[in-house]
Amino acid sequence: MNYLGFEAYEKSINKIGESSAVFMAKVGDEDFIIAGGNAPGIGGFKGESLGDGRIKAPLSHENADVLRKLLPFTAPSRVLTKDRSFGLGDRLGIATPGHIKLFEQYDAYPVFAQQSIRELNLTNRTYEDVLDSVTFAVFRDGFKKGWGADGDHLKTVKDVEYALSLGFSMITLDCSDHIKNDVTDANAPALPKNYGDKYLGKKFDIGEGVVLDFTEGELKKIVAIYGEAIDFAVEMYNRFLKDGKYAADFEISIDETISTTTPLQHYFVARELIDAGVSFATMAPRFCGEFQKGIDYIGDLAQFEKEVKIHAVIARHFKYKLSIHSGSDKFSVFPSIGKETRGIFHIKTAGTNWLEAMRVVAAVDPAFYREIHKYALSAFDEATKYYHVTTDLSKIPNVDTLKDAELPGIFNQNDARQLIHITYGLILSKKNADGSFAFKDKLYKLWKKNEQVYADALIKHIGKHLDLLGVKKD
Ligand code: ZN
Repeated sequence: MNYLGFEAYEKSINKIGESSAVFMAKVGDEDFIIAGGNAPGIGGFKGESLGDGRIKAPLSHENADVLRKLLPFTAPSRVLTKDRSFGLGDRLGIATPGHIKLFEQYDAYPVFAQQSIRELNLTNRTYEDVLDSVTFAVFRDGFKKGWGADGDHLKTVKDVEYALSLGFSMITLDCSDHIKNDVTDANAPALPKNYGDKYLGKKFDIGEGVVLDFTEGELKKIVAIYGEAIDFAVEMYNRFLKDGKYAADFEISIDETISTTTPLQHYFVARELIDAGVSFATMAPRFCGEFQKGIDYIGDLAQFEKEVKIHAVIARHFKYKLSIHSGSDKFSVFPSIGKETRGIFHIKTAGTNWLEAMRVVAAVDPAFYREIHKYALSAFDEATKYYHVTTDLSKIPNVDTLKDAELPGIFNQNDARQLIHITYGLILSKKNADGSFAFKDKLYKLWKKNEQVYADALIKHIGKHLDLLGVKKD
């Protein structure tokens, strides 16, 4: 729409007080923040002065910071404490417009910004960029419901500090490096007396008919496996969150291990953390079966239902939420997760948003897609260093024999999904001999031109996740 002589995004127009306004407008091919007036904070934008007190400010990190202070809805907030929250690891920084349209409709809160350090490295991005791309998207489209930013799977003081200093609203503390996977009955050290006194010979009635008790052998092993991880979480909590310096929530992640988290292990870790004064919003155990990236659940559904039920009772007992990682496309287990958690959960997705972006490529530029697909096949072995998958490349249809119209359908085939899923970093960073990107720049151009196609795909695909979880529309 035309606003004060600019081609403005209508929903971005924010009037402040009597005579100040800030909005986003298209100037030529580029988007800018236009700010004018004398409301406090307005003068902070850095850019080109247009005379009459108005500034045309580029979408820089500096200006994103000014915007977050001026309009708090453009900054992350603590949505992890809401009943239903949903992580959307948008690796490309382009998915938020589609996610916004979806979460405007559903009774759940989005964590639009969610990246691990590994993902930052593989995509050559920074947390500043991850945060800013969401800030500008929610500003442009006027999304005022609230959204979160997750420093995902962080393991070190340096990384946690990095995310918190930028205003991230949650930290997923990855305790996996401190979990001992090689503990056996034979090699577990003797049980420290304080744990024996606290846990042995007792029945822990956690409600809903669930009573837990530990044998000495079990307890000895659990202490050996998780003791150090608990110490680590306590230390990180005390260091960063205890005194309330940062307005962020803590998620305890014990999911990146080799073996399933048993209900007794889950109870023990939670109990020890809480008794040590750690306050956390969510816990991510490792569930039975396989949560491979970008495809449906693999495993025994009945067993999963039985176990998620007990995990949910433990979480309710201690008053935090269960968090489900690698939640992309786990359609067959969503109904039981929704039911057993009574609609109180955090779910994380990431790769599926990237796969939908690649489906768009297959739909609008088949020749380009074929080129990328063939590169992905050649790069597959290297990519398996980072991800555990059971992909069978021989099952993937040959893209040269598929008709153009059949190409997007390749994303309904699990092996092809995993091929494209795990090669994202290599695809985005592949360079030509002259140092230019082989695919990246052309991909971003394509996605920019097809923003609506991508948004529609996300609404449909992530919407299916929410529907199966039993999330109602507002
Ligand atoms: Zn995880």
